[in-house]
This record gives sequence, C-alpha cells and structure tokens, in this order.
Amino acid sequence: MSEALSERLAKIDAQIDRSARKNGRDPRSIRLVAVSKTQPAAAISGALAAGVRIFGENKVQEAEGKIAEIGRENAEWHLIGHLQSNKARKAVRLFDVIHSLDSGALAERLERICEEEGRAELPVFIQVDLAGETTKDGIGEKDLPALVEFLRGARHLKLAGMMIVPPYFDDPEDARPFFRRLRELRDRFVAGGELSMGMSHDFEVAVEEGATLVRIGTAVFGERFYTKS
Ligand SMILES: *Cc1c(COP(=O)(O)O)cnc(C)c1O
Repeated sequence: MSEALSERLAKIDAQIDRSARKNGRDPRSIRLVAVSKTQPAAAISGALAAGVRIFGENKVQEAEGKIAEIGRENAEWHLIGHLQSNKARKAVRLFDVIHSLDSGALAERLERICEEEGRAELPVFIQVDLAGETTKDGIGEKDLPALVEFLRGARHLKLAGMMIVPPYFDDPEDARPFFRRLRELRDRFVAGGELSMGMSHDFEVAVEEGATLVRIGTAVFGERFYTKS
C-alpha cells in the first residue's frame, strides 16, 4: 500500500471528523466516495487495500473496463457524472448508486430498464442545479416536485437523497449557501435522506452543512491523469 495514499486518507478522515464534530454530528454518518475518474484500475486496487469501499466514476464507458478489472462485487460503484440516455442500460448493469439523476425522462428510462433487467432496486440521488447555469447538469428547483412525485411512485428507483456540484469558488465558504439550500430541499422532499455534496476543495464546508456522502478525487488519488480516449 502506498504510504502517500494512506496518509492522504488519514488526513481526509481527520478533516471529516473535525468538521462533523464542529456541528455535533457523528463522523460515522459520513461516507467517502473516492472519485477514481481518470485513475487506472491499479489506483483503485491500492485504495481498496487501504480500506476504501466506495468509488465514484463520471463516465460509463471508462468505468466499464475498470469495474471489470476490479470486479463488480469487490467494491461499491457510484455514477457521479451526467448520464446520457444511450448509456442508461449499461449504467444500470454497472453501478450500485446513481448520483446524477437530472431529468424526468432519464428517471422514466432508468425505471423501465430496471424492470427489463430484473434490477430490484436502484438508489438514485437527484442532482440539483441551484446556480441556474444552463451549461451545468442538474435539474432546476422548479422541476423538482414533479421528479420527486414520479420517484415516489417508482417500483425500482429509490430516492436516496439530493446531490449538488456548486460552481467553483476559490474560497470554499462561498459554496456554503448552495450546500445549505440543498439541505433544505432534502428536508422538504426526502426527509431523512442523504446529501451527496463536497469535493476536494470544499468538503469540510459540505460536512458542516450536513453532507452524508463526500465525493473526493484529487485529495485521495492526487492529480488526475487526462489521456486521450
Ligand atoms: C471529479 C468530480 C468530483 C471530485 O472532484 P475533486 O475535486 O477531484 O475532489 C466530485 N464530484 C463530481 C461530480 C466530479 O465530477
């Protein structure tokens, strides 16, 4: 096991611990999703050996090969990136949890595919776009109630909670209002549900605001390798 990796994980643990206690939360209620996008399968093996259980990937195609190498059952696989409708079937086969449900059309498609594939339950997070950036993924607040309503009636999709990727700010404090607003929406639409929020540079603020899943890439694995694909 790489020394650097275990040191980075210990540091993240300590930071989560501190931020949780600051607000009287039990640090064990917060789980790490190690975001392994662009990282080779060997990096995932190393993290598994260091005790990481949940991995986040943002592209179905890229994840497919790595999941085959590591083994579908040897870790928990979370899709955290935008899901194109033509990749929905593969996603249902490959992933344990989808964080990036961002439209009613996608929800209907996933529900139908679960039925066809004999997938009993698929936990999903609704990705919310609170910045109103049209280039960003996520559903706008005004479209939330209809999607929640659909999910309440769904047999296979289980609404696990809400997810957000706030705009990037140099000062993570500036992301706090987004995390806070997402928590309010969670309380209103998924009482007792989870909050998927917080990345390498802002997860401490996210934990202070109630994150139950933090999605951390570079702080776990180091800088990403981007290769042509
Ligand atoms: C890449 C990514 C992350 C992790 O980002 P880091 O800054 O490397 O921690 C988290 N969430 C989503 C949706 C991502 O695409």
